[in-house]
Amino acid sequence: MPEKILLLPGDGIGPEVIDEAARVLDRVGEKFDLDLSVDTALLGGRALDETGSPLPEETLARARMADAILLGAVGGPKWDGVERELRPEKGLLGIRKSLDLFANLRPAILYSQLAGASTLKPEVVADLDILIVRELTGGIYFGEPRGVRTNERGEREGYNTYVYSESEIRRIARVAFEAAQKRGGRLCSVDKSNVLEVTALWKEVVTDMAAGYPDVELSHMLVDNAAMQLVRAPKQFDVIVTGNMFGDILSDAASMLTGSIGMLPSASLNAGNQGMYEPCHGSAPDIAGQGVANPLAAILSAAMMFRYTFNRGDIAECIERAVVATLDRGLRTADIAGEGESAVSTREMGEAVVAAIG
Ligand code: NAD
Repeated sequence: MPEKILLLPGDGIGPEVIDEAARVLDRVGEKFDLDLSVDTALLGGRALDETGSPLPEETLARARMADAILLGAVGGPKWDGVERELRPEKGLLGIRKSLDLFANLRPAILYSQLAGASTLKPEVVADLDILIVRELTGGIYFGEPRGVRTNERGEREGYNTYVYSESEIRRIARVAFEAAQKRGGRLCSVDKSNVLEVTALWKEVVTDMAAGYPDVELSHMLVDNAAMQLVRAPKQFDVIVTGNMFGDILSDAASMLTGSIGMLPSASLNAGNQGMYEPCHGSAPDIAGQGVANPLAAILSAAMMFRYTFNRGDIAECIERAVVATLDRGLRTADIAGEGESAVSTREMGEAVVAAIG
């Protein structure tokens, strides 16, 4: 049975960076003698233009059939005015929901060659390599009841419900423990257990599970301290696991430690390890169509796909090593080029990575 990969290039620079990631797939397919079936479908603004829906039925059906999805980015000013239900982002959310992609994995890696790109001192961030595992489909973003009501004093009040069931906590913690096993063996669970009952339960459940992972060293941290430690001494972390809202905030903060959005991949997984892999950046309408976008986040997302869906850490490492070798050769797209450094195109960067794979 071939491994089924669905490409969803999307809008703006999405197709440009996914083209390069697809060439990397071709190359590793040959090198490792893989049976890959790679298909492409429409999503986002272009899908809306061509079919009237940002998530056409056919795309959803093919997404369900795929083992892994590699997405570019969706959206752009052309669709800013369309009604909420038809917005390109709805396509993305629709796939996440229908495939139950509850585990969001976001590495923040700062290659030493690019340490100058961070707003933090190079010695604080050089060789940073952390992974934030965020619960993506529960918690306060989805809890019911929610809304705005008028209270007994006649004043409007907004309210949300912060709820996690034990099974929801267990399944995200399992992903995080397993990710820690594949990395440095350290897991930090982030909560606000001193104030919120939900996260006190979170801490209890994660602690209970630790016995099943004797090779992982578990620690706990309150979210306010975690935010502080992320900018003070981020290299103390290996894997962080947390709920939806804390993860939303911490993963954005962590991504900025690296200073280069064009370098950051991500993965969203479900219980069957089916995954959607995508760069953290958006469709970058300001540079779309110019062939200057950095394809490395998309290429590194493909590497994550091999590690987490196909359980081929060796292929993931091969791609990651090729990216490092390309940076070592001094190749830079405009977003990561230092002052006075000349920049290569999206295609040249992609070709260099393919060549480095060997
Ligand atoms: P953005 O990430 O698209 O761009 C922010 C800045 O980073 C821009 O200056 C852009 O040129 C630069 N940039 C981003 N990716 C780059 C790359 N690979 N190489 C070089 N430079 C890169 O964020 P934005 O401008 O806030 O959003 C633009 C559009 O993308 C919006 O329509 C937004 O809704 C959408 N968006 C989509 C996703 C997604 O599909 N997952 C995520 C975020 C934003």
